[in-house]
Amino acid sequence: MPETILIVNDSKFEREFLKHILKNKFEFLEAADGNEGICRLKERYEKIDLVLLDLVMPEMDGLEVLKKKNELAFLSEIPVIMLTGSEDKADQIQAFQLGANDYIQKPFNGNVVLSRIDNILASKRRLHFIKEKAEQFRVRSEVDQMTGLYNKTTTMNKIEECLKLSPNQLHAFFIVDIDNFKTVNDVEGHQMGDHTICIIAAMLSQCFRKSDVVGRIGGDEFAVLMSCIASKENARQKATELITAMKYKLDLTIPEYVSLSIGLSFCDQENATCDELFGRSDQALYLSKSTGKGKYTEYGKEEAASQAAKKNLVLVSDDRSVNSQIESASDENCHCVFYPSILDLQPELFSGEDKLLFLDLSKADDFGNTMLQQYQKLPHPVDIPVYAICEEENIGQYRCALQFDGIRDILTLPLEIAKVRKKIEAQHLPC
Ligand code: GH3
Ligand code: MG
Repeated sequence: MPETILIVNDSKFEREFLKHILKNKFEFLEAADGNEGICRLKERYEKIDLVLLDLVMPEMDGLEVLKKKNELAFLSEIPVIMLTGSEDKADQIQAFQLGANDYIQKPFNGNVVLSRIDNILASKRRLHFIKEKAEQFRVRSEVDQMTGLYNKTTTMNKIEECLKLSPNQLHAFFIVDIDNFKTVNDVEGHQMGDHTICIIAAMLSQCFRKSDVVGRIGGDEFAVLMSCIASKENARQKATELITAMKYKLDLTIPEYVSLSIGLSFCDQENATCDELFGRSDQALYLSKSTGKGKYTEYGKEEAASQAAKKNLVLVSDDRSVNSQIESASDENCHCVFYPSILDLQPELFSGEDKLLFLDLSKADDFGNTMLQQYQKLPHPVDIPVYAICEEENIGQYRCALQFDGIRDILTLPLEIAKVRKKIEAQHLPC
């Protein structure tokens, strides 16, 4: 599209002459005096690419026009070429001091005018290009390339800004971590891992308002600030929505066993910093993780969450050493029952609450597929929490383990007693 030149000149003859010079290359607007010139600039500044400004005009001369233009910041990027019959060097100097980009002496030659315009417009285009690139770099440096969400630094800065901008308001801070994500990478491959991260990132950015801050702060970890909310219940509902959406995965093309754990904290009355909120939500997240995953925990309500620690442990394994490892991970609040085979399990075992099932696939020659078939035939509630015990790095066993209803995690041999104990202590039955 041709660029547009504004001609500000009180001489009709000179305006016609300039239009004649410009007509094959540019579009133009005209003003017959300084006042009209300023009006055109104000009305059409988005369209005007350059001004040809006569110096000597009645009422408002070219220098006055430059002064007025300088007062309006939105006109600062429009270059100006002064046209004058005066040979007075002081005028030229003043015009340059007022920001004129070039100065052409009358009588002017058409080709010289055109070349000077071309020169200035070329510099303007270069400058525009550089500014655009700088803006792209700025945006890119704020954003996580894979998901398009803010990166960690930007997330923290934006949250700090929000907290400063609206002190004494109620804000909710979420840390969201994908559960069992290493298994996605190990079993389905890194491509599916990346895809899972992107799907969850998209879900998070859709779920919150534009004014909220949503960012990726680690590999499989996200942070969200719901700013200026009306009540804590809003944030609790959001957390439940996210957990539920992940549970049923309608239209989400990610592995079935992926769930989300969330740590939630609030900032109200006192002016907490981003770091303080982060610390609180992180503590709450830790509890979500250690009490069975796929849930949210609210900071300050962790105690209630850890109450549900009393469990009946049902272990299916014919390996004595695995039995004793599970036994040593349990405490006086646990009742342990051991079975050598799934076929020995009685359906009554599944009645009542607070059951945890440990299935040892580590000795199975067929990765545990027979156990899987036997378990599927056995009438059992689908949401009883199942922990599969596998050989380390046995992908076949991992794959099989993930097909068990209610699978919560994969434990690898040798069992880390402290880790198993944490899982036992804190496991909640899903609602
Ligand atoms: P938990 O349920 O306790 O959260 O454990 P997890 O298996 O989800 O594993 P954890 O959160 O401890 O570790 C996250 C893993 O994510 C570690 C790293 O190998 C992987 N990861 C980090 N960034 C990326 C990425 O951009 N793409 C992929 N595919 N994997 C990543
Ligand atoms: Mg994780």
